[in-house]
Amino acid sequence: MPNLADMLNTALSPEQAQLLSHVAVESARLGARVYLVGGAIRDALLGRPVADLDVTASGGPRFGFALADALGGEVVSSSEFGTHELRADGVAFDLAMARTESYAEPGALPSVRPGSIREDLARRDFTINAMAVEILADSWGDLQDEFGGVEDLRLGLVRTLHGGSFRDDATRIVRAARYAGRYAFQLDDDTARLLARDLRHLDAISGDRVRHELEKVFDEPRAAAILRLLRDWGALRAIHSSLRADDATLALIDDLASEPERGGRAVTLSLFVSSLPAEAAPALERRLNMGADWARVVRDTIALRDVPGRLRRPGLLPSEADDLLRDYDEHTLRAAALAGEDMAADWVRRYLNELRHVRPLLDGNDLLVLGVERGPSVGELLRELRRARQDGHLRTRDDEVAYVRGRLGVN
Ligand code: ATP
Ligand code: MG
Repeated sequence: MPNLADMLNTALSPEQAQLLSHVAVESARLGARVYLVGGAIRDALLGRPVADLDVTASGGPRFGFALADALGGEVVSSSEFGTHELRADGVAFDLAMARTESYAEPGALPSVRPGSIREDLARRDFTINAMAVEILADSWGDLQDEFGGVEDLRLGLVRTLHGGSFRDDATRIVRAARYAGRYAFQLDDDTARLLARDLRHLDAISGDRVRHELEKVFDEPRAAAILRLLRDWGALRAIHSSLRADDATLALIDDLASEPERGGRAVTLSLFVSSLPAEAAPALERRLNMGADWARVVRDTIALRDVPGRLRRPGLLPSEADDLLRDYDEHTLRAAALAGEDMAADWVRRYLNELRHVRPLLDGNDLLVLGVERGPSVGELLRELRRARQDGHLRTRDDEVAYVRGRLGVN
């Protein structure tokens, strides 16, 4: 059994390492066996920093609360599957009870009962995620790797643990693409065959679960590579017939990854749906059970396609560009700014960087002092000042005062 102590000590942050030693002491006191599992082990073996800690324990159902107490921490949230999010020593981590799962039908949520750590590893998605190290005070680092995760990491392979894996839970198809894209791994041959066979089971996965997996894809720096895999495997189409990702779109999503300000998943979403047929939008919104944020990005992405023609009108004033763009979601505009190279995209960039921030130097009070009547005319005049500033007619405060006096017929 290889020992991972050195690798783990390098990959864990000092805070994470400190927390795990604390967990080791307290779980021994509570008489439970506790393991670090999944991504932390995988990333330590890959020599990458460990992003988050997933911990599995063999304790009873109340163990999460007992451990949180013993650590002087708290249970931040709990799920119906007996998993908890804990926070202690300034580190958040996920704690699950070791369990075994069975699936009544494809796409159903599993029925779960307590199990051993072996059983818990056997229910996992891929060999590279099915490794564990027991968290012990004096000696730790001994790797449990029954399914050949170390070997698959070395070979660069994503491999399921059994032939029914994608049928049990087709979200694993999206997860497979996420790991393959992220690490530039391949699917093992059998896994590729099973994945192709089981694509249709994506249909049974609820909108919330698919959307959640897509969110995680959009958050990845290599989102474009992952979406390309999903496209080439036919998984995008299997999620919804309207979904595609042409090469031009993927290239833009790839460019976005190198932007210092990536703008989050909503910008990626906007690029992703940039060539969606308008009539497909309502069905896609329903398929992914989109909330208001996503639905707005989708709708605005489609609506914004009609705007460039108007932005290209010769002699368009900045204030008119502001009129055309003001009502669109910011992420959608950022996607459009990234996507275009023509004059219309220049306007979108100018709107984002400059025009939308323009404010008059005078405020409502100043206008009252200058003799503007209290009421709607204050707001109207402020909007006029803003437009005149955007169009370059006003620079100084005196310019604005003179403008207001002019409008009032005073000199
Ligand atoms: P990431 O770096 O993507 O967060 P992770 O391994 O931490 O990787 P999580 O989504 O946090 O991934 O899940 C934690 C662990 O739970 C995984 O390593 C895997 O073992 C298991 N797991 C998560 N989702 C599934 C699933 N759908 N089916 C089986 N096992 C899963
Ligand atoms: Mg994780």
